[in-house]
Amino acid sequence: MTKAVADDRRRSLPSVDAVLREAGTLDPVARRRLAAAVRDVLTAKRAGGTAIGAADVAREARDLLADRDRPTMRPVLNATGVILHTNLGRAPLSERAIAAMREAAGAVSVEYDLAAGRRGERHGHAARVLAEVTGAEDSVVVNNNAAAVLLALAALAARREVVVARGELVEIGGGFRIPEVLARSGAKLVEVGTTNRTYLRDYAAAVGDRTAAILRVHSSNFRVVGFTASAASRDLASLARERGIAFVHDLGSGTLLETTPYGLGAEETVQEAVTAGADVVTFSGDKLLGGPQAGIAVGRRESVAKLRSHPLMRALRPDKIAIAGLVATLAAYRDGTAERELPVWRMIAASPAGLARRARALAAALAGAGIACEVVETRSTVGGGSLPEETQASRAVGLEGHATRLAQRLRQADPPVIGHVAQERLALDLRSVLPEDDERLARTVIAALSR
Ligand SMILES: *Cc1c(COP(=O)(O)O)cnc(C)c1O
Repeated sequence: MTKAVADDRRRSLPSVDAVLREAGTLDPVARRRLAAAVRDVLTAKRAGGTAIGAADVAREARDLLADRDRPTMRPVLNATGVILHTNLGRAPLSERAIAAMREAAGAVSVEYDLAAGRRGERHGHAARVLAEVTGAEDSVVVNNNAAAVLLALAALAARREVVVARGELVEIGGGFRIPEVLARSGAKLVEVGTTNRTYLRDYAAAVGDRTAAILRVHSSNFRVVGFTASAASRDLASLARERGIAFVHDLGSGTLLETTPYGLGAEETVQEAVTAGADVVTFSGDKLLGGPQAGIAVGRRESVAKLRSHPLMRALRPDKIAIAGLVATLAAYRDGTAERELPVWRMIAASPAGLARRARALAAALAGAGIACEVVETRSTVGGGSLPEETQASRAVGLEGHATRLAQRLRQADPPVIGHVAQERLALDLRSVLPEDDERLARTVIAALSR
């Protein structure tokens, strides 16, 4: 384009005032925000040298504003086949937890003793139910498990040594690395054993005058197979007791239910870790527990008391809404309703036959709308740093067509649908979808793809 033509086009752009007149009456805030968007549109048009009328600029400015105002964190349909998808918010919550969180949004007695009419304890709310479901003497809740580990080490081992097996110096993801967390807690790391084998005697030889604790860390996201050995939790607890030091066990996911009935590998449960004699056992609220983001430390009364009174506690404390959701989630374990009440366990417990039936229904609905697809057998995972390498038989609806293009269109659906691309095919795995969302999934996919 010649310079003269570009200048002509520029002159043909409407003024901001002309566009705003086009937009009609607006309240002052809306007017100011629209004016800013209009200026952005005009700047883009000027650079592009395109001619455009006032009405079109107004429309584009409105679209731009709507785009900017759309929340970036939105509810999605998780059809990835990964139940605890960290990028999709880990555990979906139970109805009871959601109701409790909604109630806690107003004024609540989070730090108010209703019987005595004076200041109360934030940490008491989950303690009773945690004692009942884990068997531990006492507990403290913080905002995530990374915080629980940091707090436990800071409270029990600052300026002293912590013995950790070389095979457990792991990175969990999101930059959580055990050696670095240990350093931040003020404790000094003492590595024992080898990557694949660490014996009780390795720990025994490393414990000395400067040792404050033994730390065991769950290998959440990888598995060492073959020629391996590790000390039993019970033996580490006995050694710690004998030497007058603490045994801290970071369980990571921390399940309260057995995983083997669902075809998954065995996991040491929270109750087992407590019974084994750990001083402090830490785990997440939003992994296999199936609740809101939280970190839970349970264990012996004296050890937990040190965590609770540590200055870091104030910086790591959970908010009232998380406490409410956690207590309501734990109540499902207390009441024996976890498998049928908590979405995470409902998904884990879903049978392949039931998943196949749902996949056939979804495939039929999509085919009826002209979307080519078929039911495929898949392997789903628990995810979220739980049960590494363990999978369950699942069923998905595989969509015919260019996988990445289909995935992109479904991400733009309302609500966005997140599938799983494998072997250049987009699959919608039903393991990570609750049955009550099947119809919405079908409707959303049809609306997004049959255009
Ligand atoms: C997931 C995990 C953590 C971190 O827990 P968050 O609740 O995500 O902070 C720490 N340790 C282990 C072993 C884990 O698996």
